This record gives sequence, C-alpha cells and structure tokens, in this order.
Amino acid sequence: MKIHPIIFHIDVNSAFLSWEAQYRIEVLGEELDIRTIPAVIGGSEADRHGIVLAKSTPAKRFNIQTGEPLAHARRKCPNLTIVPPSYSVYVESSKRFVEFLKQYTPDVESYSIDEVFCDFTGTEHLYGPPAVFARKLADRIRDELGFTVNIGISSNRLLAKMASDFEKPDKVHTLFPEEIPAKMWPLDIRDLFFVGKASEQKLRTLGIHTIGDLARSDRSFIQYHLKKHGETIWDFSHGIDHGSITKDTAPQNKGFGNSITLSQDVTDPETARTILLSLCETVGTRIRADHAYVSVVGVHITDCDFRHTSHQKALLSRTDVTYQIFETACELFDELWKGAPIRLLGVFTSKATDEQSFQYNLFETDKYDRLAKLDKAIDTIRGKYGEDSVQRACFIKNKQTHMSGGINKAKRDQKKE
Ligand SMILES: [Mg+2]
Repeated sequence: MKIHPIIFHIDVNSAFLSWEAQYRIEVLGEELDIRTIPAVIGGSEADRHGIVLAKSTPAKRFNIQTGEPLAHARRKCPNLTIVPPSYSVYVESSKRFVEFLKQYTPDVESYSIDEVFCDFTGTEHLYGPPAVFARKLADRIRDELGFTVNIGISSNRLLAKMASDFEKPDKVHTLFPEEIPAKMWPLDIRDLFFVGKASEQKLRTLGIHTIGDLARSDRSFIQYHLKKHGETIWDFSHGIDHGSITKDTAPQNKGFGNSITLSQDVTDPETARTILLSLCETVGTRIRADHAYVSVVGVHITDCDFRHTSHQKALLSRTDVTYQIFETACELFDELWKGAPIRLLGVFTSKATDEQSFQYNLFETDKYDRLAKLDKAIDTIRGKYGEDSVQRACFIKNKQTHMSGGINKAKRDQKKE
C-alpha cells in the first residue's frame, strides 16, 4: 500500500498580539484582554517610523493592515490601543508551542517564530483522519496554550502553507492536489507563495490576475517573461512543491531580535550602551549567518516596575553591519530612556530581506563597506576559534559578556557543529 504524505502547516493567529495578551493576563495580572479590543502591537507612536506588527480581530474591522504606519492605523481607529512588542516573551511562547507539538511527532520544524511544519505521514491509525485530528489539535492548543491557530493540511509543504492561509482564525483547511482547481485557482495571484510585488505587477501586465490564470497559461510563456522564477511559480500554481520551502528560504520579515534580563537593574547609560552593543553583536551575527539584511532597528526597555517602552526606526538603507545597528540602537535608546532603572534591554530588527541590492547614502558607503568587511572577518575567526576569540576592546575590562541575549553561548556553539 502506498503511504500518502500528510503535512500540517500550523500558523498562530495574530501571534504577537495573542502572545502579548496572554502574557499580560497571566504574568502581569492584567484584566483587560487586548484581543477583545481594537489593539495592535507596534513601536512607539511618537516615532514616525512605527509600524503595525500584529493586530487584534476588532482592529481588523477597521481595515488596519500589518506593516502600515501606526499613524495611519490611528487615523482609521482613533481609539486604537498600541502596545510595544516584547520580543523575549514571544520567543518563549514560540518555544512552548513547538514543545507542545513534539508530544505528537518528533517531526516538527519551526518555519518562523509563529509557524511550524509537522509531518504526520502514516499516523492515521494512531490519530485518526487528518482533518478530524487537526481540529482536536487546534482545540487543545487553544484550551491549553491559550491562543488559536490555523492548520493547513496537504501532501506537501507548499499546499499545506497555502491552506493555513485560508479563512482565519481558529480554522482547519485541507488543500489536497485534487482540491486545487476549486480552492486555490480562484485566489488572487498575489496570494500565491513566492509571488512578490514585482512578479505580481509583471503577471498583471500579462493579463494574469488569479492563480488559475497562471495555472492555465503556458509554462514556457511564463518562463520567457519571468525566467527561472516564472517556472517555479507556474509549478506552484499546480501544487508542485520543489522542496524549496525550508527554513532557509523562509521570509525573515519577522526579523531578528535579542533581549536580556539583567541580573541587576542598570542605571547608567554607559553600561546600557555596552549591553546594547553585546546584543547587537549577537543580532548582527545571526543576520549575516542567514545572509539577510534589515531595514528597521528597534530598542525595547522594561524598567524596574515592568513598564515596557520601545522605539524603532527605519534605516535609509538595508544593512547587516553590527556597528550600524548599534549606532541606531543607541540613538533610539537616548530618545527612549528617561532614567528609570532598567530591568530588561532588547534590540530588534525587522523588514529583513535577503536582497543584496542595498545602497548606503554616498557619505556612508565607504565607512559601512569597511565595517562590513570587518564583520565578515570577525565572523570567520569566531566560526573557527569560538566566539570569544575576538571581542571589542570595551568588553575586556567589563563584566558584561560581549555577545548577549537569546540562545545562550553553549547553545550557539552547539549550533555551529
Ligand atoms: Mg501567524
């Protein structure tokens, strides 16, 4: 008997907002559930560059979009509640989510902070029909972990991922190959995986507006106009997955971040800056390891009374240079910090992309080019001789560790193996 692959794509609904809501209720003891009011997770509103990172269902009713400036969102909904992100909380929630799924299968792969693929091939005799089991699983996640998910089920990752994006929240959808014409072809072309803004526009000029239009077009015609990428998306429109949907190709738009809870509250800006630098070292190293670039940098502070504040700023050009991230982080810190003892410091980045066509402004090009080369050299040395082999001079006489936050050192070293 042939075994049919069964892949689940599980996507947390409004992850940052759900996790934030839960944290506020369970840890901070707040009574208000921000999921029940028009609310978004986003940076500081005073900062013109603050954007919406996640939104509640009531906020969706005001047509608030992820990625739009907070000022726009505020115009659409004057009573909007804006909550600064707490990345370290979300990283913990994400880990709990993955651990929970591992009770069911060892085959769990995090795709992004709030999405996983699980391979349930051959488990029907154990768990029952996939769609029935998925509903039970989603209910258990909701009841025991306190947030809702969408589950997409199919025979490959591509189709499972497309399926989890159908109606939200708290839904289970299947998209098996035989369901493609009915469920996938009527969708807008921009809903197809890997179709970005540029491809979308190109396809529209060719008269292709739905996924079905693409599927019914001639493959060589698409290949002629969109080259290799055209072949890939044409195959996608027929549900053909080339095994290209792996962690390595995951869109990193959620960004890279790191934070540290300090053993003692910090009250002087110099120490705070040193800690920021150590966080930027780790963030920068991870960005470069993933061959990504970021265009938004943010800082968040939790003070000794657990008040969170954060600030973010769009860069003029994308970067992977530690020092550029650090300079921006310091600037943000100076704007943000009002002198209260600091309990937690974090640096986050977003709008990550793997496009390399970044440009610095003319005056900065030379400086950042040199710094980029320096970073590359340092990464290589650390890769060979361990991360303590090179550190910035300011850390030598300092008790602060030179690479902070996130996964600990032992784990980082392990990951390299
Ligand atoms: Mg999600």
